[in-house]
Amino acid sequence: MKYELKNGWTKDIDKEIVFKFSEGYKDFLTQCKTERESVSEAVRLAEECGFKPLESFDTLKEGDKVYAVNKLRSVMLAVIGSEQLTNGVNIVGAHIDAPRLDLKPNPLYEDGEMAFLKTHYYGGIKKYQWSAIPLALHGVVITKDGETVNIRIGDENDDVTFVITDLLPHLAGEQMKKSASEIIEGEQLNILIGAMPSPDEEKEAVKENILAILNEKYGICEEDFLSAELQIVPAANAKDVGFDRSLIGSYAHDDRVCAYPSLMAILTTEACDKTAVCILTDKEEVGSMGNTGAKSDFMKLVLLEIMDKTGESATELNLLRCLDRSFCLSADVNAAFDPNFPSPYEKRNSGKLNYGVAISKYTGARGKSGSSDASAELMGKIRTLFNQSGVLWHVSELGKVDAGGGGTIAQYVANLGVETVDCGVPILSMHAPFEVASKLDVYMAYKAFHVFFNN
Ligand code: MN
Ligand code: MN
Repeated sequence: MKYELKNGWTKDIDKEIVFKFSEGYKDFLTQCKTERESVSEAVRLAEECGFKPLESFDTLKEGDKVYAVNKLRSVMLAVIGSEQLTNGVNIVGAHIDAPRLDLKPNPLYEDGEMAFLKTHYYGGIKKYQWSAIPLALHGVVITKDGETVNIRIGDENDDVTFVITDLLPHLAGEQMKKSASEIIEGEQLNILIGAMPSPDEEKEAVKENILAILNEKYGICEEDFLSAELQIVPAANAKDVGFDRSLIGSYAHDDRVCAYPSLMAILTTEACDKTAVCILTDKEEVGSMGNTGAKSDFMKLVLLEIMDKTGESATELNLLRCLDRSFCLSADVNAAFDPNFPSPYEKRNSGKLNYGVAISKYTGARGKSGSSDASAELMGKIRTLFNQSGVLWHVSELGKVDAGGGGTIAQYVANLGVETVDCGVPILSMHAPFEVASKLDVYMAYKAFHVFFNN
């Protein structure tokens, strides 16, 4: 039989269900611009669906729904299955950090009678894309008294906004001769935040005026920047793209476009044989390291806690057995074929908009370097499951051989013994301040993760 793929919209699809799901997703995108905000919103939604903190349970039984927050920046949710954990669990793992500009520890300065904030970019960005667009400031400041001040400025219509200036074309002769990676350099990613001098000051009067405003409005002083996590993100909120409204444009589809469907999949899982686990992790964009990244022991700790509370002996042997018999969909975005830039794609093995979730047997660069390469057996299992459940899917390789490459959390989960494969939503303009995803693919991601948990 001929293997032939068709655009998902040519199939029997309930557009109303697909579009309705995307409304919830757009709300999530608008609400969650940082990993901390994503964790808070995930917890809020989970509690609405009857999930409770893991530490609130002395014992756990089949059907119990739990969550555990890791240092406010990552979260794991689980629905306890009828089988014991040593039979293995079903994991969907997505990440909730996204490329952005972090404020430096000493960010505030004045130059040319204007006040600026210095930044250090986080993740893989094209720096020039961040100039001359409206920007917002999100994050937390810990004051000297240990109080947490939550900052979220620039998303509402009547909020102020911030910007990185760019040179006018009339004077950009030298700049335009530079390579794209240098037309805006790292130390030029400085955020314009004000230009009005304080009448009471002689030196750095604009900066002093900004400090007075920060103190009055937020109760923070200059030294408080030293103990803060402040992130500059695009101010634009998620919007429908196209006359047909079939696409969503937004900052940070990578990887909320998998995080939200995986969250919704576990929140709508009532009873399952194997325990269902959704992990929303941090630091993927910089290599998954640190105590909130996928390389940390957090998932192992939570699995051991669940074992303990379900009455299984929480030994290392049992944990290793559990991981060895587990399956994971590493839920991360993929590159969708872009007809505007066809050359780095290989059409027969490329992700495509509206063809459902994209499965990558392997990622990596050059000779599959840094890839965990899923087995034929695992590909077969997922293929059968998705085909039987009406999940639209296709395979995707990130560009032509030697065109570049990339990685996900798959290799770190696979290192634990878990049978792991990448499965996520193909997007356009990945890592840009405004990325594009298809509503049909977002819904198919939800369906894929839901059938994975419930079979
Ligand atoms: Mn990603
Ligand atoms: Mn990414």
